[in-house]
Amino acid sequence: MRILLIEDDPMIGESLEEGLFKEKYQIDWARDGLEAETLIAANSYHLILLDLGLPKKQGLEILQNYRNAKGRAAVMIITARDSTSDRIVGLDAGADDYLVKPFDLDELFARLRALLRRSLVPENREIFHLGLSLNPSTHEVVYQGNSLHLSVHEFKLMLALLDEPGRVVSKSKLEEKLYGWDEEIESNTIEVYIHSLRKKLGQEFIKNVRGVGYKVANKS
Ligand code: CA
Repeated sequence: MRILLIEDDPMIGESLEEGLFKEKYQIDWARDGLEAETLIAANSYHLILLDLGLPKKQGLEILQNYRNAKGRAAVMIITARDSTSDRIVGLDAGADDYLVKPFDLDELFARLRALLRRSLVPENREIFHLGLSLNPSTHEVVYQGNSLHLSVHEFKLMLALLDEPGRVVSKSKLEEKLYGWDEEIESNTIEVYIHSLRKKLGQEFIKNVRGVGYKVANKS
């Protein structure tokens, strides 16, 4: 599960980052509103933790822009603003939950789990990662603004690698995702597809982890 934390307070940010990391979430931390929007544009997240008072751009504006752009991740507002009207404005702007600071980390984790259960990644949703977008329903691929042709197997392979960016996926797992039970698999097909994908996306996009498998780069 990939979470974007948007928080300018270094102490709160560090404790959340550490806590979420221990809970095995993959976490990106944006320290101001503009950095948050850059990360949102470049990646897909399962959940966004959003502080409201931020440098450069306010949290509510980020949320409104995100929902206007059809962003579908669950959003939880974390803020010290605890008036009822603040909560209503936040929820109306498209937040799914609202937690007032200071909060207990265990309560935050419980609410995250509940939100993630409810919002689990709809099938066929468009995937974005580091300038690459894949649309499983239309099969369209755009990389750095240019549309790109991927074969059916290359497309499936990319989807499998982007399921959890940064995580290593073994070759056998990739073969499993690419082929049905009855299909015969040549021993080096995954290597062939990786080679061809690298020609299209550059050498650095997919990393080889020797003896383990492959992963996509997590940061440019
Ligand atoms: Ca703040």
